[in-house]
Amino acid sequence: MKVHDKNCQIQVQPLGGFDQPLTYVTDQKTISSLKLGSLVRIPLGKRKVAGIVWSFDQHEKTDKFKIRRVLSVIQFTPVITKDLMELASWTSKYYACSRESCLEAMIPTPIREGMQAKSRRLLSLDRSNSNQVSVSSRATAQLKVIKFLSERKSPISATEVIKHTSTSPNTISSLVKKGLILESSEIIDRTAYDDEFMDSADQVEHSITLNTEQLKAVKEIKKDLSEKSFKTRLIHGVTGSGKTEVYFEAMENVLKQGGSVLFLVPEVSLAPQTVSRLRKRFSSEKVVVWHSHLSSGERVDAWKSLITGNSRIVVGARSAIFAPLSKLRLIIVDEEHESAYKQEDTPRYHARDIAVVRAKHTDSLCLLGSATPSLESINNVRKGKYGISHLRNRVDNRELPLIHLVDMRREAEKNRTLPILSQSLIEALRERCANREQSILFLNRRGFNTTMLCPDCGHVETCKNCSIALTYHKTDGYLKCHLCGYRKPAPRQCKECKSFDLNRRGHGTQRIEDLVAELLPKRTRIRRVDADIMTKKNLFREILSDFRQGKIDVLVGTQMIAKGLDFPKVTLVGVIDADLPLRMEDFRASERAFQLLVQVSGRAGRGNRTGEVYVQTYAPHTPSIQYARKADFEGFVEEEMEMRQEFNYPPYRHLIRHLFRSRSEAKVEFYTNMWASLVNKNIVGNITIKGPAPAPIEKIKGYYRHHLFYFTASVKKALDELGKLRRNFPLDPDVHDILDVDSYQIS
Ligand code: ADP
Ligand code: ZN
Ligand code: ZN
Repeated sequence: MKVHDKNCQIQVQPLGGFDQPLTYVTDQKTISSLKLGSLVRIPLGKRKVAGIVWSFDQHEKTDKFKIRRVLSVIQFTPVITKDLMELASWTSKYYACSRESCLEAMIPTPIREGMQAKSRRLLSLDRSNSNQVSVSSRATAQLKVIKFLSERKSPISATEVIKHTSTSPNTISSLVKKGLILESSEIIDRTAYDDEFMDSADQVEHSITLNTEQLKAVKEIKKDLSEKSFKTRLIHGVTGSGKTEVYFEAMENVLKQGGSVLFLVPEVSLAPQTVSRLRKRFSSEKVVVWHSHLSSGERVDAWKSLITGNSRIVVGARSAIFAPLSKLRLIIVDEEHESAYKQEDTPRYHARDIAVVRAKHTDSLCLLGSATPSLESINNVRKGKYGISHLRNRVDNRELPLIHLVDMRREAEKNRTLPILSQSLIEALRERCANREQSILFLNRRGFNTTMLCPDCGHVETCKNCSIALTYHKTDGYLKCHLCGYRKPAPRQCKECKSFDLNRRGHGTQRIEDLVAELLPKRTRIRRVDADIMTKKNLFREILSDFRQGKIDVLVGTQMIAKGLDFPKVTLVGVIDADLPLRMEDFRASERAFQLLVQVSGRAGRGNRTGEVYVQTYAPHTPSIQYARKADFEGFVEEEMEMRQEFNYPPYRHLIRHLFRSRSEAKVEFYTNMWASLVNKNIVGNITIKGPAPAPIEKIKGYYRHHLFYFTASVKKALDELGKLRRNFPLDPDVHDILDVDSYQIS
């Protein structure tokens, strides 16, 4: 039984259906080469699955004979960094999701399945010829290979050698055997380092001298970095105040000290300028761009490049927060207020919040930047958790644009039908066209109001699966559901009152594009950007690039063109309907409306001319609109915070949404109610419960949805209490429930 004595225990986190590490044994020799994060194959029930070596702790009490043996080692080199292992545990606890779902977000599938990076065989001549062998002059094929290799300074791939010398793999093998040529291998790197993000329009980078405010922020950041411990700092800088230059200084500092940097942007395809500026500024670094369009091979290579320390900068959207950087020292979250940072699928994490936690685990500095910081971050500054640096002025002291509020109620009086574009906005557009200046027309949502409304009886065509209005698409004459994809030909007659006078015009981006084309001179070049175009990544980039180069006069688009774009020649921004975010049933509605208006206004007048913004609204006196007009961030925050505090809304409490779904409407309603009365009776402590209620969208893809909300000061305590109750709650197998911690999108 000597062999048995040498067995050592390890804890392995299975990948495939078990949510905590299990004890396995393996021999001492293997264990001495295993590392935290090594990938092994283990038995799990009747299956064989991959697993990650999670710890080397010995569990005294476990029954030795029941412990199973590690089957094999897939790879000794860790597939995850130590800090990410810790982060996976934290994320799964905080967001009430499985640890495995977090690991899936961290490790690309091929790596989890044990696939190695693709490599190729390289050959070179052994110039020392230490074996003193020679080739017979009759072995022409071998001589050819040696001659070919002797003419090359660096190793060359075996495939190339075979191709150029028309020899066989056998010839190569015998030369290798003789020791005349050397073999090596090289990992093929498919990382997207190419210049797809290079924008010809801004190739010329003039050297920039930081202004006083920027210098002050940089000084504060350098001080944070010199302390070499965890810190979060909010960079509150108005649009165009040069935040990016400040981030770059911080990055340079960190790279010089051998650290690496994670740079988050809300959406990579919206940040081509940031990416190309990064590449130019850090041209000696391999900047990894991490985005959703990466092929599986590219993702694996990008991942390898980071975990091996080959690349020290990664820029990407929210999922990049889990990129395996070693020696992480700095995390930057640009436009930290953006809701795109919240993942609406399991694991339902918020990348900004994870950024702060990851910085804490790695003793890094976390920089959050925005012109309109979230109330969550402002609250953390007030509580002294975050530091803050202000950039109150635009670069070169350019003026903020002039904002005009257009009261659409008055426009409606003048006009019998509801107007889409006000007279003043139309005139402003015409003026820009005459002066050959650029304009942006901004609409809150794709398809908004392109619903099929009957002006006689008010009937609206809705989706049979989702209980939301269908949207009319002019291109093919279909009505479509944006949630489930249901489509049907647009009817010519109202289903209810049989009227033929159906109004299918509405305010869609397409409708605005048509209208502008009618109103402006023929030569005006108009382009539209909406979610349809976003799916064609190159087209979107092309449009933005054309616009920047002045090949487009008027750009019409949805919120995606409000995010951080910098177009110096734009002097007019029109906001078609500022009220929509206010009409949504959501306590964050005014915060969203405010952010949107300020961000959109920031698009105007970035060049040498002061910009003008026209905001069309049916509610001009709404505080968020008034504060946005005056660019009064502090005023807005004061008023909004008071409301949040009064109702115990975030950021004063955490909001957890508990969603129940079922194909059976009766069951989902019954169980949601039953659960609600159970928690109401049993939950003690500081949790406020709201609901149950049908979700705003009651039915999605055939599933009925009901939900309730918990407001709590401590997510951990609330989840503990709810978990205890939930384990003994007899939920019908036809009903499923999901927790959404720090919920954003309530649909
Ligand atoms: P923000 O991220 O705050 O909107 P950016 O960093 O993108 O601002 O800067 C806006 C523009 O101003 C960029 O084109 C940038 O190159 C330029 N810029 C930034 N700082 C300076 C400076 N100190 N002097 C001149 N131009 C600057
Ligand atoms: Zn009708
Ligand atoms: Zn639908």
